[in-house]
Parts: sequence; C-alpha cells; structure tokens
Amino acid sequence: MSEPSTNPNAAFPPVVVSGIQPSGTLHLGNYFGAIRQHIALHAQSESYFFIVNYHALTTLQDATALRKYSFDVALDYLALGFDPSASSLFLQSDVPQVTELAWIFYNITPVSQLEKGVSFKDKVAQGLSANAGLFNYPILQAADILIYGGTLVPVGADQKQNLEICRDLAMRFNDRFAPADAPVLPIPEPYILEHVAVVPGVDGRKMSKSYDNTIGIFDEGSELKRKVMGIVTDSTPLEEPKDPDTCNVFALIRLFADDAKREEVAAAYRAGGYGYGHAKKELLGLITNHFAEARDRRRELAARPDYVMDVLREGGRKGRAQAERHMQAVREAVGLITTH
Ligand code: ADP
Repeated sequence: MSEPSTNPNAAFPPVVVSGIQPSGTLHLGNYFGAIRQHIALHAQSESYFFIVNYHALTTLQDATALRKYSFDVALDYLALGFDPSASSLFLQSDVPQVTELAWIFYNITPVSQLEKGVSFKDKVAQGLSANAGLFNYPILQAADILIYGGTLVPVGADQKQNLEICRDLAMRFNDRFAPADAPVLPIPEPYILEHVAVVPGVDGRKMSKSYDNTIGIFDEGSELKRKVMGIVTDSTPLEEPKDPDTCNVFALIRLFADDAKREEVAAAYRAGGYGYGHAKKELLGLITNHFAEARDRRRELAARPDYVMDVLREGGRKGRAQAERHMQAVREAVGLITTH
C-alpha cells in the first residue's frame, strides 16, 4: 500500500502567479523584491502575472492616473524582458471573477486575522485612510492567487504575512467545503529571496509607492540624480570609517553590484576617507547602467501602445479561462447554483 502523500499540492500542477499594483511608478523595491523574480520565472512553468488595478483603488482614486499607471506597468514588464508568448500578463479587472471569489472568502475569514495585518496597520499609521478595501486587501490577494490555482508566489519579504493569510484561507476552504482526499484549492508557497529582504526608500523606510520615497526603475537624468543624492544617511564626517551594513545607500549598492564591487565599496566605507557623496555617485552609475538596455526598449514600446494593449487582451483571455475553470469548482463546492 502506498503512503499517503504529505505534499498538499500533489494533486495540483505547478502554477506561478503574482500581481503588481499600478498605484504609482514601479520602483527599485518592486524590481528587486518581485519583478526580477517574475522575469526569471515567467517562462519556466505555467504562470499568470497581473496588474492589480482593483487593489490599487484602495489608495489611488483618480481614473486618469490609474489608467496611466496600469498601462505603464505593462510597458515596464515588457521592457524588462517579459515574453508574452511564454506567459500571460494582464489586467486584474479583465478577470472580474476574482471579486466573486473574494466575496466567498470574506465569509471564512475572521475579522481578527485581518486586524493583525501589518501592511494595513502600517498604511494607516502612515496616514492613508482606513477604508474597507484596504482592510480586506489580503482577501482579494488570496483570491488572485487561488483563482489561477497558484502554487508558487514570487513576492517581496513584506508580503510574508499576506501569503500566510492566503494559505490559511485555502486550508480553511478545503476543510469546510471539500473532501479530505480531494482538495479544491492548492496551498501556495511564497518564493522570497531572503537576501533581498526589504529594499529601503530614500528616507530609510520600506520603499513603497504609498510613502513617496521611491526611486523609479526608469528614472533617469536629473530626477534620478536628485533622488539618489537625497538618500538619507547619518552625519559621519567624510574622513571617518563608516558601517556599510547600516547605510541606506549601501543597502541599494549591494543589490546592483557584483561581489567584487560590493567588497570594494564596503572596504572603502570601513577604511574612512570615503564619503556618502562618493557612495551616492557609485550608486547613480550602477542604476544607470543596469537599466540602460531596458530603458531603450521601453522607449520603443511606448511608441507602440496598440501592441501593449494586444498583449494585455490576450493575457486576459487566458487568465479568464483559467479563473473560470477554478470558479466552477468553487461554486460547486460551496453550493452556489448557476443556471447558465
Ligand atoms: P508598493 O508597496 O510600492 O505599493 P506593491 O504592494 O505593489 O508595492 O508590491 C509589489 C511587489 O513588490 C510585492 O511582491 C512586494 O513584496 C514587492 N515590494 C514592494 N516594495 C518592496 C520593498 N521595499 N522591498 C522589497 N520588495 C518590495
């Protein structure tokens, strides 16, 4: 007799999913925390990447801006190397079934679990209004993942808790609505690069579109320079030794630099006679070089908006088909009768 499987996802094919908010211009935190992993993984297995414009509404309530940022995210992904023939890139609102699944999930989510939400508490503490969308954000996120049967979710370290909420929801749903040997939903695993941790913004807090402390992936020229030169540091004088491990500038340098460069800059910090101004110039050069090719590609793509919309349309078609398959199983499991 064979042993019972201990892998809760044995019955599910591997599916990579991840979403990105179009609530502002994409930044280095998004890139190192998520997008770089998205680009690396998107062609390896079945995958769905979506621009979560419903989520963006929790903080961005300006139709023109939402439309612009949504389109720009698509442009950014394509410029950074996303191949639409290998995966799907689409708009969350092209799959309205996610809001249907979110509603079902509301009913099996304890309010107490959402009240502990670090991301919610953090955003409210930073002065954002505590609307119900912001409070329920993790539920819609869980629906986003599970509706495509997501088993692997590449996200930044700041998303750990939301992923836990998603896993709890999937387990609770299966316990309540599915036979033990035939789960309806997989239990997704986060894919987090621990060494990236949380990318700091120019003010030293987590870099976030909500905090106005970002460096955009495609910032260039005087704007990029102004932001890099404005990164907050302590006031250790130029000639004194400095600790690279507590410096916001070095935290960004280490993400771009290869091992040799990283060691060289760290040694210069420790030796003294190397000021934060030097480090900022180094960082400016690293950012400019790293995204040079993508910047050119982005310019070319920006001149072809119809192509970008075609990519989103085709991605949406695939996303809807996959979502509808899973929703049929969910509706059936919870006892929602559909007559069409
Ligand atoms: P934002 O906080 O700027 O609105 P999102 O919530 O849209 O960012 O996050 C999109 C992805 O980028 C998520 O996977 C998130 O984990 C990642 N991410 C966002 N900010 C950071 C950061 N400062 N460091 C690491 N990853 C981040």
